[in-house]
Amino acid sequence: MNATMDVLVSLSKRRGFVFQSSEIYGGTGSCWDYGPLGVELKNNIKRVWWRDFVQARADMVGIDASILMHSTVWKASGHLDHFTDPMVDCRECKHRFRADHVNDLPWTHHCPATKGNKFTIPPGEPCGHCGQRRTLCPECGKGELTAPRQFNLMFKTFMGPVEEDAAVTYLRPETAQAMFVNFDNVLQSMRLKLPFGVAQAGRSFRNEITPGNFIFRTREFEQMEIEYFVNPHDRVDGRPADEYWHDRWIGDCMAWFQRYGLRDENLRLREHDKDELAHYAKRTVDIEYKFPIGWSELMGIANRTDFDLKQHSKWSGKSLTYFDEERKEHVVPYVVEPAAGVDRALLAFMADAYREEEVRGEKRVVLRFHPELAPLKVAVLPLLKKREDIVRVAQTIRADLARQWRVVYDDTAAIGRLYRRQDEVGTPYCVTVDVQTVGDAERGETGDQRVTIRERDSMEQIRVPVAELAAVFRELLGGVTWADLAPRYPPVRS
Ligand SMILES: [Zn+2]
Ligand SMILES: [Zn+2]
Repeated sequence: MNATMDVLVSLSKRRGFVFQSSEIYGGTGSCWDYGPLGVELKNNIKRVWWRDFVQARADMVGIDASILMHSTVWKASGHLDHFTDPMVDCRECKHRFRADHVNDLPWTHHCPATKGNKFTIPPGEPCGHCGQRRTLCPECGKGELTAPRQFNLMFKTFMGPVEEDAAVTYLRPETAQAMFVNFDNVLQSMRLKLPFGVAQAGRSFRNEITPGNFIFRTREFEQMEIEYFVNPHDRVDGRPADEYWHDRWIGDCMAWFQRYGLRDENLRLREHDKDELAHYAKRTVDIEYKFPIGWSELMGIANRTDFDLKQHSKWSGKSLTYFDEERKEHVVPYVVEPAAGVDRALLAFMADAYREEEVRGEKRVVLRFHPELAPLKVAVLPLLKKREDIVRVAQTIRADLARQWRVVYDDTAAIGRLYRRQDEVGTPYCVTVDVQTVGDAERGETGDQRVTIRERDSMEQIRVPVAELAAVFRELLGGVTWADLAPRYPPVRS
């Protein structure tokens, strides 16, 4: 079964993935805080993305630019003039709506046919008593709405101590522009040859009129963006290089989400219609995911042509070109932009990993995270917390493994309960230290120095020497499957 948004929101809060921002003050409309497990999951997503798309590739480099940029950047990029949504305001309750969404809301109606009784009527439907359609504010049902006005989605702020026009700047609404304005710095300092890409992961801000759906649409969010520059005069496999690389990136990004656990049936591509395309874009394809709210954009991959570099060249007066040695000419590269949201990716990975299963007549909730994404890799659990020697061995194992991975120790419940807790947060492996491990010194019995490893999905258990634990987890967390590794060790029947 697929998880509902309510289930994910509740699990996120209960188990420390995501909290509402400033909750003790009533929360903010659209900001969320990542808790102890959420930050691990989010860092893991960014880390594997960086490793797979930057570190592993000879044609990629990264940057980390500041959030506050020169305000002319946003003039050149078009954000200052065009990054707007139409909005309307209620003259009574001051509620603000996106003009193009106002008819999609349930509306409040004080019905004249029933002595002014108040009803909430489904979106787009007329009143069943008087037959009226909505004309007033859907929220209060009393106020008239203003005519639509364009509302810029950038957060405005002031650089320095004076609040005057000259000091106005903006929190970046996307990370992409820093790659364009640094194009020549990166090109010259790294001596790159086309095609090459520049990647960046970082925060962006959009003052959405109607944010919502948990971490799907928020005003502050994190992006992972790549600008991949190609020579528009080159041909690859008989096609223009920009078109060839656009398709390559669509395939690579899709494969990346599949590799880390999103199921095929929950992923699809959506080609933007011609009238949907930004005027400078040659082609844009979204990877859509079947979120609990329905099919929605997970990431977009756009062919932005030479628009951005040309704009910044025009506004800055600096040449942003590449010298094509072969043709002995300067060219403005085309750019393919794979742009993903970290928060959205996290929501998709979580929704896809969520399972409710029945185990021996009991319900278990399990997050089947890919081991590389799982916030905790191993939980070390003592079977008896009153036995000092067992606890000591368990603590030593935790400390030893924790030098390489996020590993926790937990002795706050009985073992069955501890397993369920780890399943619920997606920990792929549990290590249990028991009486057999340590023996009984008073009776002169030495232990076998072995511990039990339990795998999350199959719940199978094997007995492994403590001395081999680090090596075993290097394999299991490095890509070796449980099915391949487990037969090397004696099984434990639970
Ligand atoms: Zn109102
Ligand atoms: Zn009515």
